[in-house]
Formats: sequence, C-alpha cells, structure tokens
Amino acid sequence: MTTGAARWAAPGRVNLIGEHVDYAGGLCLPFALAQRTVVEASLLDEPRVRARSRAEPGTVDIALDDVGPGSPPGWAGYAAGVLWALRVAGHPVRGMELLVTDTVPLGAGLSSSAALECAVALAADELSGLGLSRTELAAACVRAENEVVGARTGGMDQAVAMLATADHALLLDTRDGATRQVPLSPTGDGLAVLVIDTRVRHRLADGQYGARRAAVEKAATALGLASLREATVSDLDGLDDGLRRRARHVVTEIARVRQVVAALDAGELASIGPLLDASHESLRRDYEVSCRELDLACEMARLSGAFGARMTGGGFGGSAIALVPRSRVDDVTRAVGNAFAASGYRAPAIRQARPSAGASRVG
Ligand code: ADP
Ligand code: MG
Repeated sequence: MTTGAARWAAPGRVNLIGEHVDYAGGLCLPFALAQRTVVEASLLDEPRVRARSRAEPGTVDIALDDVGPGSPPGWAGYAAGVLWALRVAGHPVRGMELLVTDTVPLGAGLSSSAALECAVALAADELSGLGLSRTELAAACVRAENEVVGARTGGMDQAVAMLATADHALLLDTRDGATRQVPLSPTGDGLAVLVIDTRVRHRLADGQYGARRAAVEKAATALGLASLREATVSDLDGLDDGLRRRARHVVTEIARVRQVVAALDAGELASIGPLLDASHESLRRDYEVSCRELDLACEMARLSGAFGARMTGGGFGGSAIALVPRSRVDDVTRAVGNAFAASGYRAPAIRQARPSAGASRVG
C-alpha cells in the first residue's frame, strides 16, 4: 500500500572545463542541463524499496535491510543505494515506492546516474522528513554510487545536480568541496553550447581511468605534495617524461579553469574558445584520454564556426562540447554529422545545453 505520490526531478550535466582534475584536488566548472530524470515516489508502510523505471525492464522489490554493496544489482542499485547510504549515516529512512518516468539520456556522459540518485535523495529526504541539506544528500548519492553500485565517481556530478542554479555554472573546488555560482548564459550572449554525443564508449575507459588516477597520485608523491593542486608547471621538470605529461595536463587544466571563470565573471563568454581548444589538446596529447570520434567532433565543430570545442567527461567516447555563435548552430550540426557519416561512424546526437537549475520537487 502506498500513500501520496509526488514527483522529484534532477538534471544531467556537462562539464564546461576542468576535466580529470577532481581526483587531484582541482577545480571543475560543470553546469546542469534542462534534461531531467523524474522520480515519482510514495511511502510504503513496510521497510522496503520497490522500484521501476520506464528506461529499464522489470520491477525491483527489496527489503531496506537487504540493500548494500552489490545489492540490488543493476540500475536499481543507484536508487536503492541512496536509501542505504542515508540509513548508514544514521537517518531514519522509510520504505518507498519509486517510479522513474523520464530520464536524462543514459550513458551519454551526461550523468544520468547522478540525476537518478539526486531525485531519489530529495524524495527520500522529504517523504521521511529528514531535513538534510543538499550537500548531505549529495554525499549520500556519491556513497551509493561508490559502494552499492561499485562505480568510481568523484562527486562533481552529484554536487552540480543538487546545487546548480539556472544561467550559472558551478565552480567546484574538489580540495575542500567549496562551490560558487558563476554566471553562464550563452543564449543571452548570442551563443550556444552544443553537446555532441558521439554515441561510442570504447571499452578501455575503465582501466585507463584507474591508470590515470594512479599516475596523478604517483606524480604528487614524487613531488612531495598532498596533491597536484599544489604544483606549478616548473615543479614538474624533475618527473620522468610519461608522468610529467600526465601531471602537466592536471596543472595546466586547473589554470585554464581559473581563466574561464575570470572570463565568465567579466561577461566574456565568447572569449573562452581557445581555452576549450587547449583543454582538448591537453586531454588528447598529454593525458591521452580522447579518441578519434571526439577529435573529429571537435575539429569539425571548429572548422564550421565554433569558437572552441573540447571533449567533456572521462573520455574514450561520450560527449564533446562546442561553443558556437547561434547563427552557426546549423552549420556545426551539419558539418559534424556529415563528417561522422563520411568516416562510417554512427550518427552523433547533438543537443543544445542550457544552464539550468538543480534538483527540485516538481509536483
Ligand atoms: P551516465 O551517468 O554518464 O549516464 P553511468 O554509467 O554513470 O552513465 O550511469 C548510467 C546507468 O545509470 C545506467 O546504465 C542505469 O543503470 C542507471 N540509470 C540512470 N538513469 C536511469 C533511469 N532513468 N532508469 C534506470 N536506470 C538509470
Ligand atoms: Mg554517471
């Protein structure tokens, strides 16, 4: 038996800049998308979670006491895992029925996982009367994904899904968790941010993520620093060539985030194109996490009118972003699509990204 269904929604995100620096105490600058995951939720009078999603087959029905690392397996781990994380933090979560009705595109690098978690977290907070802050709820979402699903996530996705405001990017300092809203309104400036989903995900992504993370930690240790956040480019001279290139990406990327933030604070969004391009080059050459599809998307976007373009997210597939004058959106969309077709790649999915608000109750 259920009582009183209501709906909560949380957005997907893209990262404007600050890639592969969250595990080095760096700065990142994501913003929330208009695309949202919607969860309809109601209390159950038993301590269970019953979950369904229009995006995945089947119903999961599990006692709250049986939720934990690896359980339930599959997609429901993201949802039930949030209830588990809240419970292990000592909060009296009640049984819930969850129906996921709409979704951020899954696995496109737009963070459908955090959107699902954050919508569930808000629902749980309100229905169980927990009164937690958005930061506390985001922490439970991170814990659910790390420990119940077993996927590595640094916390950027959950922070932006919870804390974003419309027409702003969220500057997140991963060293201490501090955040600041930075104005970002492409439409107002006659611009658009296009998200180009390559619709490929190369299989080496997972192992390579661990290897990059280990390299960054090794470089910090070799330099006697707590993290590469503390390093300057000249500090890196003593590292061997392979490690130096990895570390150079992190150090220069953090500097680029600061420059982008300064440009946005000054109302000069159109000027950040070269910083986006430099970020992509650094990820491609020094960090080696790009792939042919991402390189092609960025190159064609630039050639057909974008001010700048870069891969966004972990790499090896997923999405790129391009900063484009609104008058050139169609040109860029066509040029990227044609180039993908000529290379025999799947047609990319290209969407406009509008900096949108974070999670909320919607009905
Ligand atoms: P991303 O977060 O970039 O979309 P992830 O691999 O982190 O990619 O998360 C995608 C996974 O999250 C899906 O495979 C699915 O298990 C789960 N998921 C996300 N949104 C939903 C949804 N609306 N319904 C069911 N499962 C979802
Ligand atoms: Mg995810």
